Amino acid sequence: MDLTNLTIPEIRSALTSRRASAEEIVRAHLVKIEERDREIHAYLTLSPERALAKAREIDHLVASGAPLPPLAGVPIAIKDVILTRGVRTTCASRILDNYIPPYDATAVERLEAAGACLLGKTNCDEFAMGSSTENSGYGPTRNPHDLERVPGGSSGGSAAAVAARLATAALGSDTGGSIRQPAAFCETVGMMGTYGRVSRYGLVAFASSLDHIGPFARTVRDVALVLRTIAGRDPNDSTSADIPVPDYVAALDESVRGLRIGVPGEYFAGLNAEIADNLQKGIDLLARLGCQIKSVRLPHTEYAIACYYIIATAEASSNLARYDGVRYGVRSTGYRDLREMYEKTRNRGFGAEVKRRIMLGTHVLSSGYYDAYYLKAQKVRTLLARDFVQAFEEVDAVVTPTSPIPPFKIGERIDDPLQMYLTDIYTVTADLAGVPGISVPCGRTRSLPHLPVGMQLLGKHFDEASLLCIAHAFEQAGGFAAGS
Ligand code: GLN
Repeated sequence: MDLTNLTIPEIRSALTSRRASAEEIVRAHLVKIEERDREIHAYLTLSPERALAKAREIDHLVASGAPLPPLAGVPIAIKDVILTRGVRTTCASRILDNYIPPYDATAVERLEAAGACLLGKTNCDEFAMGSSTENSGYGPTRNPHDLERVPGGSSGGSAAAVAARLATAALGSDTGGSIRQPAAFCETVGMMGTYGRVSRYGLVAFASSLDHIGPFARTVRDVALVLRTIAGRDPNDSTSADIPVPDYVAALDESVRGLRIGVPGEYFAGLNAEIADNLQKGIDLLARLGCQIKSVRLPHTEYAIACYYIIATAEASSNLARYDGVRYGVRSTGYRDLREMYEKTRNRGFGAEVKRRIMLGTHVLSSGYYDAYYLKAQKVRTLLARDFVQAFEEVDAVVTPTSPIPPFKIGERIDDPLQMYLTDIYTVTADLAGVPGISVPCGRTRSLPHLPVGMQLLGKHFDEASLLCIAHAFEQAGGFAAGS
């Protein structure tokens, strides 16, 4: 039995039947990381002692016959923008090279309380700004399915770790697509709940009105299990919603027959032919499962990228003001006065993309331009959100491609920021509207080298359950399982 290949229910049955111990499961992952992560570079920091201590705790529970918590012995990886007490958290930025958080994010605390074993912290674009993980201050992560290609971003390390069996599940963050797009590129399942569904206490802020924490796994059921654990009100995050969390796992087995699924024409116009082909097959499959397919309109979609890159950079420029060499992380040496200390620290500590965003964000917020850019973008955001509310009067979910293109080669887009920004076209809308989204594998491209394609499902506010239910039925019927 390959212990790195197990799903969460399989881990549970291996433990309860005593076919494997939690310690063996964790060690199998650590060995695999040792073997494979040199080439993939999914992890920035490993926490083997912490994972093994938790595994031994679980093994004691098994031995004593006590009931096991829901994620007992599940090896997990955490994106390095999420705080872990005592374990270095860099945000893939040199400015936080030495930062050791004094507390755990709520999502991490809940996962460990549910029995999960924290293997380490995963690589990402610096401060989650990017779509390829090439903006990491520590070098890129490679796509496990094709090492010359990017794993997507910004949570590329989490997606790659799960795809390569270097973790069973992982947490990522999504501000404009950073969970769903790498999930699609690495042929895994990735989900972002409704804004406010999962506490962001301990998530390093990028753009606070858009940031989410969410899970990656190789099956929809595993994603549901992780989401169920991390979702729900947290008094430490005032934006977390006080709305009961349904049993996402029970929802998987509901029927999808009769559910109305909308196809927004705006997301298919001029689409890459191979992605369009896979999506059409996916939509046909949803129809065969009994879903009612309808066309819907999301008319403001064309403004989404511009709107996102104004709001996200504006918020980022404000959030990143705190890295001043005094409160957190690295301080540059050789300065004459305070101002020079700030300048040297920020100039050396931040990478090019982060600096670009700070400048763009400062510009759109500056007094002469605020109305023309920031205020206008906020109005457009309202229109985009209204598009979804109106579409959801007619349908229960919307289906779209996750990414307009398949995983691209490392280096191919990095010198053209606009091209990179445009890859987020299908994902930023859900963050702007605050609606939940999931990406599930939808086959491979027909031409060599047969790259993964993702299908995105977007749903009503706080209706993650329908998305999980549809995605699960699709996964079960399609043979589109990850890694196949
Ligand atoms: N690719 C988008 C960006 O660079 C989204 C990033 C994210 O979701 N964290 O802003």
